[in-house]
Order: sequence, then structure tokens, then C-alpha cells
Amino acid sequence: MTTLEPDDPRLRHEASNRATRLATAGLAAVVLCLAAVSIFAAYTMQTQVGRAKHDEALHSRYGEAILAIHAEDSSMVEYLLNPSAQRRVEMNAATNGLIDAINAIEIFGGDADSDVAKGVMAVHDEYVAVSARVVGAIDAGDADEGLRIELFEVDPLFAAMTAQIQAATDDRATAALTTFAELQSTARWILIESPVIFLVGFGLLFGLWRILERAHRATRETYREIEQLSKLRSEFVSIVSHEFRTPLTGIQGFSEMMRDETLSMPEMREFAGDINKDARRLARLITDMLDLDRMESGRMTLNAEPVDLNRIVSETAAQFRLSGADHPIELHLDPSLHRMLGDPDRLTQVVTNLVSNAIKYSPAGGAVELRTERSGKAVTLTVTDHGIGIAPDQLEKVFDRYSRIDTTQTRTIQGTGLGLPIVRQIVQLSEGTVWATSELGQGSVFHVRLPIVEAARPAPLAA
Ligand code: ADP
Repeated sequence: MTTLEPDDPRLRHEASNRATRLATAGLAAVVLCLAAVSIFAAYTMQTQVGRAKHDEALHSRYGEAILAIHAEDSSMVEYLLNPSAQRRVEMNAATNGLIDAINAIEIFGGDADSDVAKGVMAVHDEYVAVSARVVGAIDAGDADEGLRIELFEVDPLFAAMTAQIQAATDDRATAALTTFAELQSTARWILIESPVIFLVGFGLLFGLWRILERAHRATRETYREIEQLSKLRSEFVSIVSHEFRTPLTGIQGFSEMMRDETLSMPEMREFAGDINKDARRLARLITDMLDLDRMESGRMTLNAEPVDLNRIVSETAAQFRLSGADHPIELHLDPSLHRMLGDPDRLTQVVTNLVSNAIKYSPAGGAVELRTERSGKAVTLTVTDHGIGIAPDQLEKVFDRYSRIDTTQTRTIQGTGLGLPIVRQIVQLSEGTVWATSELGQGSVFHVRLPIVEAARPAPLAA
């Protein structure tokens, strides 16, 4: 089962998709809220405006009713002053006018208005009966009786009707004022809430835009990585096929000569040696590939034991001298360096790869210098050569898998781009760091800094 690194593109995509979904849902919720608030506010305002208009209209109906009461009262007085047929008609018209006004209140108003209208009408019915007695007294020529009835019976009835209508009018005026106040507070609420909701929506929109931007950037980055990986893969295929073909061609050629030609024993030995060298090269290539794969996938662990780094360095140098390296190898080993914990095979691999590179990339010769230096709880191993050097912008890249610097000088030098990535993996597994400094045409220095975890018992140093 493979575990995903925190910066794995798949995890990045998953996280950005989740963020996009969240922001979109948030935005949709805000838009829904906005719509709901707008509809609710519009509905509330419309209802309140309708109620205010209705209260206002009802209020004016009550006003009309008061006017009608006054008109009826005046028509009665005028009839008493001048009891003509014309005044009788006007008196009846005033009575009808009041009845219409009261009916309008009952039709237009609610239950409370209907009660008021009924109460007023009951009093008015009394008035109609009393007014008939006034008319009867006048018709009988008893003006005094008519005046008496008017003063002591009609006037109190008008006063009672006016009082009822006036009280209801005041109630309606208060209701109209309350409705207006509510309308005003709704308008104020909308004025304050709307910008806040808009701001939240805008913030979310902005956030969504940022998230989408980041998602696009992550996608572009992933595409770039894929492109780079695909480029590296094709480069690797061509490097590896070239690296495999070279020793295979040697093995094929030498073995054909051994098969087809009559050779002396020393010649046979020489060819067999060449075949053996090529076979070893192939085996090393495969081992390197498998090692790096195991290290990068975390399947390789170090076998830590007390090691003498100075001894490893001097033995590796001796190996290179033995194998006939033309380059003088100089050692500057720190005598204060005691045994420390480390994996001897892997540390040997680090020194071997660095020395092998120092020799390979110094085609014009020159000394290779190996130095160990202890400082506190760490040791630094440096491998210095006087070869072709590395351009500043390549100093980091050379540690990447299959990465080879392609120049006219390096083109003829065999390599797979696996040596330094292996070095870096081993050093990182040992909790150390590795870096390179260089000057083009002057040579390179590879620095390996390892923490010193002291072995239990100090041991003598290598010569
Ligand atoms: P390779 O098998 O190609 O040597 P490495 O991973 O060991 O693979 O090195 C990667 C690249 O770094 C090499 O192809 C070479 O271009 C550059 N390089 C490594 N060591 C040196 C050095 N000492 N001097 C100059 N260039 C170097």
C-alpha cells in the first residue's frame, strides 16, 4: 500500500476540491438567504404598506362619519328654526348620509369597526325615533315641545354617537401611527441588513475566486510536474538503454570473438575479464536503480552500527587507487573523529559515488581531495575535485533522479543520473545534509554533513 506525502498533488487536489465545494455551498447559502430575506422584506413591507393605507382610509371614513353626525345635528336645528318641507328633505338626506357613513365603516373596517358601527347605529335608531317625535310636535304646531325634545333627547344622542365615533377614530389614528412606525423600522432594518448580507456574499465570492485561482494554479503545477516527469522518464529510458547497450555490446562482441576465433589463453583471459567488467557494470546499474527505488519509497532502512568514517574513506580511496585511477587521491582525515553510529555499506556507497564522480568529471586529471572534519556533534566529509565544475543553477538539480547536465564535456562521460540521488537519500536517512559548491571549469566540492551519534565504546582511528 502506498502512503501519500503531504504535498502529493492528489492530496492538494482533494483539499482544493473540498475547499471549492465548501465555498460554493457557502455562496449558494448566502444567495438563498439573500433571496429569502429580500422576499420576506418585500412581503413584510407590502403588508405593512397595505395595512397603513387601510388604517389611513378607515381613519378618514371615521372623519366622514363625524362630519355626517354634525350635518345631521345641524339639519335638525335648521328644521326647528324653519320647519319647511325643503328642510325636512335636507334632514332626511343628512340622516341617510350618516347611515351611509356608518355602513361604510362597517363594510370597510374589521370586527372592532363593525361593533362600533352597530353601537352607533343603535343610538342612531333611537335618534330616528326621537326625531320623528320632533317632526310630529312641529307638525302639531307645538314648537316648544319640538325644541325641548331636541335639547334634552336629541342632543345627548348626538353627543353619544360623536363620543363613540371619536374614541374609535382615536384608536384608528393610533393604529395607523403604529403601522407607520413598523414600516419605518422594517425599512431601517433592510437598510442595515442588506449591505451586511451583500458584504458577506461578496466576501464569499472573493474567497471562491481565490480558491478557484489556487485550484487552477495547483492544476497547472501538476501538469508541469507531469510534463517534467514524462520528460525525465523519456530521458531516463534513453540514458538507461544507452547504459545497458554499451556493456551488452561489449559482452556480445567479446563472447563472439571467443566463440569464433582461435585465441591464446592470455587473450581468452583478457576477453573474459572485459566481459566480467561489463557484466559488473550492468549489475551495478540495476542495483543502483533498485536501491534508489527502495529508498524513495521508504522501504530501505539503515543498519546502524559503530563505524569509523575515516576508515571507510581511506578504504574507498585505496579501492580507487587499486583500480588504477589516474587521479591522485589525497586524504585529510580528522584524528579527533571517533567511531559513530552509521550503516557502513551505505556510507561506503556515499563516498564511492562522490569519489567516482570527482574522477569522472575531471577528464583533465587533477587531485581528488577527501577531507573529514569534526565540529561538535557533527562531522563534515568533503570531496573536492579540479574538474569541469557545475553551473550555479544546476547545483541543486544534480541531486534529482536521472538528472544529468548535458554539455559537450559531459556527453562523452557515462552516467545514469542515479549516483547523487542515492547519496542524498542515504544522507537524509542518516539525518544529515548534502550540498555542492562549485565553480565552472575550476572544480566542485561535495559536502556531506552527518550528525555524530557516538558509539558506546570509542575505538582507535584508521591510519
Ligand atoms: P551520473 O551517473 O550521471 O554521474 P550522478 O547523479 O552521480 O549521475 O550525477 C548527476 C550529474 O551531476 C552528472 O551527470 C554530472 O553532470 C553532475 N556531476 C556530479 N558530480 C560532479 C562533479 N564532481 N563535477 C561535475 N559535475 C558533476
